[in-house]
Amino acid sequence: MTLWTAALDLFFPPKCPYCHKVLDDPRAPVCPGCQVRLPWLTGRAGEKRVDFTDGCFSPMAYGDRVREAVHRYKFQRVRACAVPFGAVMAQCLADRLPQGADLITWCPLHKKRLRERGFDQARLLAREVGRRLDVPVRGTLAKDRNTRPQSELEEESARRANALGAYSLLPGTDLTGKRVVLVDDVVTSGSTLSECAQLLRRAGAEAVYGLTLAQARGNGGEDGDFSPENCKKK
Ligand SMILES: [Zn+2]
Repeated sequence: MTLWTAALDLFFPPKCPYCHKVLDDPRAPVCPGCQVRLPWLTGRAGEKRVDFTDGCFSPMAYGDRVREAVHRYKFQRVRACAVPFGAVMAQCLADRLPQGADLITWCPLHKKRLRERGFDQARLLAREVGRRLDVPVRGTLAKDRNTRPQSELEEESARRANALGAYSLLPGTDLTGKRVVLVDDVVTSGSTLSECAQLLRRAGAEAVYGLTLAQARGNGGEDGDFSPENCKKK
């Protein structure tokens, strides 16, 4: 820890992103209480089938505390949440994909939305995961059409239509033979991830894995398997 981060911790003590309690261990991504209570996904529950991917991994379900934490991150622009979120995502990826990946990329925001928010939430998560696992992180996609937020659309067919053709590959993107991890904050229907994964495959990716902080169940309950055992913290 540098003197600077020690000073920051003194004046702005890191808080648990899910319950706002000041963390006893400022480097922990979650407090001991939330460690027990968060809706961690274990086994197959933490893997979702998404077209054009080889699976999409998420450490937790999109339950109440997680939903509130993601909203704070995205809509109240608490960028610092990218660090603890990225920590649990990195651990999840290391557990689920021990053979590792060649590149981490993300589902980008449209430039208009990026201007409004000031940061691309999926990009910050991708950077944090890459930093922790020592995997290169690079932008490969652009969002060309400023679609409605997927969270405003209930029907899976509407989400699919909304994402269809909204993205393109950045010029010169060549992913031949690469195993790529595609990061987003939340997966619901998987429309956004599959639309992006399809493009990554077109650029030659040998494998594409989705990675999100949380998985919302399209059909019914959003609560996962409440076990803290999976996706162990560092
Ligand atoms: Zn907490």
